[in-house]
Amino acid sequence: MGKAQGRPKEADDLYDRIGLFLATQGLSAEPEHYRFAYAALADPESLVGQAVARLTLDGVRLTRQDIERLGGSVSTRQPPVRARAPGDDEAERLVAETAAQVDGFATMMQAIREETRDFGADLAQSAASIQRSQEQAGIERIARVASAMVARVRETESRLAQATRETEALRSKLAEARNAARHDALTGLPNRRAFEEAFAARDASDGPWCLAVIDVDRFKQVNDAHGHAVGDRVLSAIGKVLTEMCEGHLVVRHGGEEFAVLLRGVALAQAAEVLDAARGEIAGKRFRSRETGQPLGEVTFSAGVTAVRKSETAETAFARADRLLYAAKAAGRDRVSAG
Ligand code: GH3
Ligand code: MG
Ligand code: MG
Repeated sequence: MGKAQGRPKEADDLYDRIGLFLATQGLSAEPEHYRFAYAALADPESLVGQAVARLTLDGVRLTRQDIERLGGSVSTRQPPVRARAPGDDEAERLVAETAAQVDGFATMMQAIREETRDFGADLAQSAASIQRSQEQAGIERIARVASAMVARVRETESRLAQATRETEALRSKLAEARNAARHDALTGLPNRRAFEEAFAARDASDGPWCLAVIDVDRFKQVNDAHGHAVGDRVLSAIGKVLTEMCEGHLVVRHGGEEFAVLLRGVALAQAAEVLDAARGEIAGKRFRSRETGQPLGEVTFSAGVTAVRKSETAETAFARADRLLYAAKAAGRDRVSAG
């Protein structure tokens, strides 16, 4: 074990951290990267040290611009360091964090492998020397190597435990982000993406399947007369009623003032009945503005319902339901058209 000899432990830690930093930052082992990592890690109180700690806090990788701004440089032999795009969002941050963590794991495993190799070589050498001379020194050396090995294994265990905790936290954050990406923030309903996934994953044995497309009637007038905030609340209320009335089926906000329902295990006539009951429920509600108490007048919707054919795409089924919807609009609104 050459590594543990002749160098103080803090120095060893610093070199370990530099190695880990280069790996998590995706920087190759070029001298200029090493210089930058040293500047960033040797003195955590320095300006560079603090700036790097802050920028990489969530496991985010530094960009080339970050590194250059902090007085470092990126080698021309280095594959291009990702530039932060203007539209970077939560999901991308999580992906970067995951990538950094995977790199961290890889580095840790590499370090463990190298250490194990050193221990193995030391042990083999000591065993050979014992066989040759039966020396006490050989036995002592084995004891030293073994105790160093135990210490390193303990340290590695605690690093692995820490990494496992971080992975768990990351996994739950990813699950949250995944869930958020499939829901609409205003109504809390699943969104178009969730609809498309459910449509693609539908199982013929759960059929027959039907699709309804719903559009609120003259919704622009609600906004114009009472304001966008009132319009928003009406959309939430409609989403809630639809979800209740179409229980057992998937109700999504498809966009704007349009909703869609993927109905499972019902034939077309029954699907049309479910939608018509929901239509009646909403048409019978007396919406009022929360601020002024003023009645909003009748709020209604029109819908097109169609039977989904085996192995057709969401697009073609949707287009058919949409045509039926517009037939319902043309026929006077506040109705369900099935076909
Ligand atoms: P039609 O019966 O023909 O569907 O008439 P409409 O007024 O509903 O149709 P149009 O497509 O002209 O208008 C839809 C309106 O829905 C316009 C848009 O401002 C409003 N809208 C879309 N999304 C939202 C939203 O999230 N909140 C609010 N408040 N309004 C929205
Ligand atoms: Mg519309
Ligand atoms: Mg509309």
